Amino acid sequence: MVGGRWGCVKAGSRCYTDAVSALVDAQLVPSLGPAPERTGQPSAWALLPDELRALGPLRGDAERLFSRLQRVATWGPDGPEVGKSARALLARTDLSLPAIVERHPSEDGATRCVLRLADGHRVEAVHMPRAVKNPRVTLCLSSQVGCAMACAFCATGSMGIVRNLTAGELVGSVLALMRALGPASGHQLTLVFMGMGEPLHNLEHVGRALEVLHHASGLGLSPNRITVSTSGLVSGIDKLATWRVRPLLALSLNATTDEARARLMPVNRVWGLAALKAALLRFPLRTGEKVLIEYVLLRDVNDSDDDAERLAVFARGLRHNVNVIPYNAHDAAPASALPFAAPDDEAVQRFARRLSELGCLCTVRKSRGRDVRGACGQLVQATAQPRSAPSAGGTPASSPPRTRP
Ligand code: SF4
Repeated sequence: MVGGRWGCVKAGSRCYTDAVSALVDAQLVPSLGPAPERTGQPSAWALLPDELRALGPLRGDAERLFSRLQRVATWGPDGPEVGKSARALLARTDLSLPAIVERHPSEDGATRCVLRLADGHRVEAVHMPRAVKNPRVTLCLSSQVGCAMACAFCATGSMGIVRNLTAGELVGSVLALMRALGPASGHQLTLVFMGMGEPLHNLEHVGRALEVLHHASGLGLSPNRITVSTSGLVSGIDKLATWRVRPLLALSLNATTDEARARLMPVNRVWGLAALKAALLRFPLRTGEKVLIEYVLLRDVNDSDDDAERLAVFARGLRHNVNVIPYNAHDAAPASALPFAAPDDEAVQRFARRLSELGCLCTVRKSRGRDVRGACGQLVQATAQPRSAPSAGGTPASSPPRTRP
């Protein structure tokens, strides 16, 4: 079933609901209806000051309470330290934070973390500090447990969708990672939603999380330091364009013909390259802003000179930066499940050079955390199923896997 939140496809005036229903019926794409949700008490981490105030009587300022909750640097050993009336208020909320149950530090300074959610599901995140003049940390976050998009090169695709992360879990992931690994302040933080799941399939919670993370009394994250990566959900891109806290947009493109893209990314059967480009052209960019076009380079699949030329044509007219990402092979899925190989360095450089010659602004992504399966496409999570009483110290990864380029 396709829910109302998906709206209608404007391109070609096709009704999204009809189009997707037909494709789902024909088993050409997995169901793209609303993802299952976790229900329960409202999470304290996702409430704005007015909403905290509305919970009940509070001695003191709700803005100050919000600040106490969101600014990890002010927390005591047991979390935010608040007064008696605030404690009574917060008892009406869910105060659970995702637990970091595994940490896998890489030689390059990145750390792949496994987060256990309150219902036992697990997702992954990567913490990537940068040793520059003004130190910064980039967090790569998951937005869903599993994913409905079924991209052929991504092990998560075979899992299907389990559920959306709630806004409280999204904000809670940020706070838990900051608390464990830093930074202390939101001003040193950059977020990328490039982990498990399709963020635009979870618009409601991602949108609310961004409102909370942006709030000046909390972390005060600028939307220019948050990137949301999509597999190409045109209805979601159009909605994202209207958000007050509108993040930067990245498109995971990965193929240059509709035929090839539909094979790699079934969402292309709903919105082809023409609809996608039209959506990017109408996406309102801020001064100096560019759309990031991510292109996972797969050996002998999408790495030809013709692909480079078609990619340059796709990017023409868009303020863009093409990010070429050599496929990161991993051993967590059987080779038969992911029959793709990484191109050699020479092929990567040739592809990038050709793009530059054709006028594309192009960078080759140096994936971090490769040795701990934390690099792009290697985030293969142990399980999307609840586990019985996992230990706080974490349990070894098994299957099924996930990954995202
Ligand atoms: S690549 Fe991204 S959108 Fe595609 S199945 Fe994997 S997690 Fe989902």
